[in-house]
Amino acid sequence: MLKRLEIVGFKSFAKKTVLDFVNTTTAIVGPNGSGKSNVAEAFRFALGEQSMKSMRGKRAEDLIWGGSHLVPRANRAAVVIVFDNSRRQFKIDFDEVAIERAVFRDGTSEYSINGSRVRLRDIEELLASANIGETGHHIISQGEADRILLASPRDRRAMLEDALGLKMYEFKKQEALKKLEKTDDNIAQVNSLRRELAPHLRFLEKQVERLERADGLRAELVKLAQAYFAIEDAYLAHERLRVEREKHEASERLAVAASELASIEERETTDTEGLKLSAAAREAERDAERIAMERAALAREIGRVEGALAAAKERSARVAREPYAKVPREDLLTLSHEVNKQSEEAASPEAVRAALTEVAKLIRAFVSRFASPADDLLADEERAAYALENERAELLDKDGRLSEEHERSKLAAARARESLAAYDETGREMRRRTLDLAQSKAREENALAALAASEREIARLAGALDRDKAEAGALAGLAAVSYEPLAAAPEEHRHAQEERKRALERVKIRLEETGGTGEDIRQEHKETKEREAFLAAELDDLAKSAASLRELISDLDAELAKHFSEGLAKVNTAFGGYFALMFGGGGARLTLEEAEGAEEDEEIAGDAQRRAGIEIAVSLPKKKVRALMQLSGGERALTSIALIFAMSQVNPPPFLILDETDAALDEANSRRYGDMIDNLAKRSQLIVITHNRETMSRAGVLYGVTMGHDGISKLLSVKFDEAVAVAK
Ligand code: ATP
Repeated sequence: MLKRLEIVGFKSFAKKTVLDFVNTTTAIVGPNGSGKSNVAEAFRFALGEQSMKSMRGKRAEDLIWGGSHLVPRANRAAVVIVFDNSRRQFKIDFDEVAIERAVFRDGTSEYSINGSRVRLRDIEELLASANIGETGHHIISQGEADRILLASPRDRRAMLEDALGLKMYEFKKQEALKKLEKTDDNIAQVNSLRRELAPHLRFLEKQVERLERADGLRAELVKLAQAYFAIEDAYLAHERLRVEREKHEASERLAVAASELASIEERETTDTEGLKLSAAAREAERDAERIAMERAALAREIGRVEGALAAAKERSARVAREPYAKVPREDLLTLSHEVNKQSEEAASPEAVRAALTEVAKLIRAFVSRFASPADDLLADEERAAYALENERAELLDKDGRLSEEHERSKLAAARARESLAAYDETGREMRRRTLDLAQSKAREENALAALAASEREIARLAGALDRDKAEAGALAGLAAVSYEPLAAAPEEHRHAQEERKRALERVKIRLEETGGTGEDIRQEHKETKEREAFLAAELDDLAKSAASLRELISDLDAELAKHFSEGLAKVNTAFGGYFALMFGGGGARLTLEEAEGAEEDEEIAGDAQRRAGIEIAVSLPKKKVRALMQLSGGERALTSIALIFAMSQVNPPPFLILDETDAALDEANSRRYGDMIDNLAKRSQLIVITHNRETMSRAGVLYGVTMGHDGISKLLSVKFDEAVAVAK
């Protein structure tokens, strides 16, 4: 597996030196101080050794060619180990694996695998995968053969685990533990993020609840608004039609009343019929009165004539009885009375004249009556009576005519009165009609005024409706104002619609109180919720991976424990065998350190057992020596060789470097050592640094290392005889 070692500037190898290895034991020989051990250290170095002490140095500088009087110092030491990887022992897809480490004077190291820079950790893992452990159990330095005997039980255990190839489990476990730690950190981080997020999320949830309530209110508003608006629209349309119709009707009625009224008024102003009728009536009454007066005068006249006639007749009768009649006193008195009467009655000149004529006539009649004898007298008297008779007849005749005339005039007056009354009745009728018309005109005007008020009310309601729609639209969106129009408003009291409006207002106020649509809050809530869900899912994933890591760790522990106890048993068998071979009997075995105070708890006991250090128990043949400290130097070397070989046999390392491990062996043991090398070489490549002839004889390839005046180690391939010579 080991193909090549290239050294440049490392310790005494100032110049590039290449050691080729074939699949057999390689011996490195040379005089003291020529640089053989530096080769073994070059291996350690390249494999990532961190302990300067195990490379016999104090500082990094000690590893770099320090210069000589001929060759100046180097600034960099580099070693490359080239492995054959055709069987893929290294878990890397290359046929050859070159592991390189370089160190600089400032102490920094650079690692690379096949020329690519890597971390030390990558080198360690790669090596562990091929069972090349870091405890260096496969590189036994000079004088360190019994290192494993001197090591503490705990370190011994580490070496044993390393040799058994269990380091891989340890790496895996450490890796798992690291991952677990990181996972736990992440869990803590996610938990703290969630804790931070929780109050904000709660706050947002409350906000969203509020918004959802607002959504509910909005939906309610939409429902109420749609119903209200549809009804209000229908109501207003109906009202407009009604008012329009009623206005039209009222206007028509008003026009009819007004025109009738106007025509009545006009007739009244041009009407003279009444005047005429009343004048005619007055005229007719005056006629009747005049005729009545005339008749009264005539009746008096008739009375006077009849009185005169009666007096004449008496006088004639007296004359007949007393032919000479003296002038009777009564006649004289009558005459004087007549005269007086005439004079009294004469008021105007014409009347005076008429009265005088009458008086003259009276006197003449008186004289003639009393101035003639009785016969004459009688005759006179008779004539007078006759004349009076005539006069009376005339007067009666006249009265008869007047009476007729009076009757006629009374009739005419009555008719005129009737006509007037009839006319007055018509007038009253007219006035009643006018009143009625005025009333209905006023009524219609009132109705029109009321309708105008209704129109204003409708306009006000329409304005309010528009505002309500705008408001509802703003609060609840277009849906609030998108509705099926109604053919007619429901038949209900207006209170019902007013109640709807109040309900709408209540919802509006509540909605306004909840504030805007909160899109930003919803968005933030959504994002926060998603973030929380993401964190929860992440936490879940993390918890799962933590659980599977714990499981992996416990599996690894179990496997480690299992492999360890199996390996321990195998190593013990081989150890016992090699020991008995070396010492010609006796026995040796590795035992686990007694765990303290952990017997009761099984788990702790298990863990303690797995972690328990390793003790070495030996029993030499024919000797009662049990403690390692009591062994001789050679015995110690033999014991540790037996153990190293046992470990290498159970889990053969790809190569084993033994730096003068055989130094303390006597001839017999050198042979046994040689046998064991042959045995080991079947499974591992061996590089032995030796001065021992026996050992050299077992090697297939021999390298001689020399150092000239320049202090530089040089390498040469040598034959066995040359090697023996060189070694000397
Ligand atoms: P021995 O057979 O006595 O064990 P060896 O062949 O193993 O000897 P090494 O111990 O490998 O010899 O080599 C030691 C030599 O390497 C010394 O001469 C020392 O001066 C030289 N050396 C060690 N470190 C450096 C360095 N940094 N620069 C130059 N030379 C160095």
